[in-house]
Amino acid sequence: MTDTILFDLLERLSSLSRIWFRQHPLLAELQPIQLSALMYLARCNHYSNTPLGVTDYLGLTKGTVSQSLKALESKGLIVKTQDARDKRSVHLQLTGAARDLLDALLPPAFLAVGEARMGARGGQLETLLGELLREVQRSADVPSFGLCATCRFHLQADGLPFCGLTQEPLAPSDAALICREHQAVEITP
Ligand code: SF4
Repeated sequence: MTDTILFDLLERLSSLSRIWFRQHPLLAELQPIQLSALMYLARCNHYSNTPLGVTDYLGLTKGTVSQSLKALESKGLIVKTQDARDKRSVHLQLTGAARDLLDALLPPAFLAVGEARMGARGGQLETLLGELLREVQRSADVPSFGLCATCRFHLQADGLPFCGLTQEPLAPSDAALICREHQAVEITP
């Protein structure tokens, strides 16, 4: 049989995460998909905080995501705002209550404790897993949703970040957010 150790390890960690979230008292009223949407919206930039961005990131149907977003809105965890230039487009913003909830949850305690016990090797593991993710995305040709600072369109103009794709200035804090338009810098062998 083919070696499945890496897959088994990732699957076990995913399973532990699901159990940890399911048992968390703060999440008694929240479905896993609603939590996933909140976590995505907390990490993405203003080009990506749309219903389509959530749909693409989670890889679910538009209908499923739409229901989840309605539920989050009715719970007071997100608000919709109209795009300033395209009135048909909406952006999804986390409310203060949602940010407080995520601050209390992330990173999951079991993971933080395990990583701390690994010391410097915890950082090495993060680097290696990031590398693995990039290789998987490259070979599967799926959107990377990578960090803005690592995008090939991420430029500097007058000492501030600038998006070469949209030709718009970016806030310094945008560099640490993920983007649905992200394209990794090509590394020539
Ligand atoms: S530089 Fe890349 S990641 Fe950043 S906003 Fe522009 S397209 Fe998105």
